[in-house]
Amino acid sequence: MTDVLAIADGNGAAPAGRPHPQEMAEHVAAGGSPFDYVEPPDWFSFSSLDTFERCPRQYALRYLCRLQAEQPRPAADFGSAAHAAFETFTRRRREGLARNEEPPDRADLERFFEAAWAGSPLAAEPDAESWRARAVPMLDRFWEAESADRSQTVGEELRFRLRLELDPKSRVVVGGFIDRIDRLPSGGVELIDYKTGGAWDPVDVESSLQLSIYALGCRDALELGRPERVTLNFVEHGMRYSAERSNGALDNVRDGLAMRAREIRGSDFMPTPGPRACGWCDFAAICSAREREVA
Ligand code: SF4
Repeated sequence: MTDVLAIADGNGAAPAGRPHPQEMAEHVAAGGSPFDYVEPPDWFSFSSLDTFERCPRQYALRYLCRLQAEQPRPAADFGSAAHAAFETFTRRRREGLARNEEPPDRADLERFFEAAWAGSPLAAEPDAESWRARAVPMLDRFWEAESADRSQTVGEELRFRLRLELDPKSRVVVGGFIDRIDRLPSGGVELIDYKTGGAWDPVDVESSLQLSIYALGCRDALELGRPERVTLNFVEHGMRYSAERSNGALDNVRDGLAMRAREIRGSDFMPTPGPRACGWCDFAAICSAREREVA
């Protein structure tokens, strides 16, 4: 197996009496079923569902074989550092307000980013400084928006676990982390997801499954009620796009999630190769379907 891949949680050792995880990955990459080795999954996330939509074999390699790429991911690392800075900023402000302390200021925001940056793999990359320079206008825009905002943050990085019953014997969980939930002046809540990189078309915000899953998690798992609005905050552009999700729409999403979970649990993980899916796939070097397409 190529050396840019690793077993995500593994030390390389196979549990007693069970096949080696690398053997399973090679079996799946060659077209075998992961269920020859593991039980059907009982945990899903937006990312895992999205991966299955893109290519079922890619899903099986990533989420059932637990393979992950080891090559640098500068855009993701930059996003992680930005998320960490924003999370620390709003948490310190929220906790400080409860103690009648001064909220963090622009310099503090910069410090929070620097702390996150120092622990990021991106800081050691050759083009680290160009990424770091990119953070300055982003922090400025975030600070300006926060200075003008009258909402109160309810929480950051809120973990939810949405339990779904597929049939009387099968239950699964759809889980995730919501970047931020604010209490609006109206009394309702706003669910916010930060995005670094390019801004989306507003139409895609309306139809975003990720936001729908998070809104469902807010309503049915965190029990904070249906969000009054769901928002993508494109932090590098200072742009926010908001949309609504009705209770009926969320009920439909819940049914749709159960349907997708059933589909995955019964899947044969047939690959769906294509230039777009394979072009960004971490497993192209080991996947037999990709090799056939290239040939
Ligand atoms: S290389 Fe293509 S066909 Fe193979 S797992 Fe990746 S996306 Fe699917």
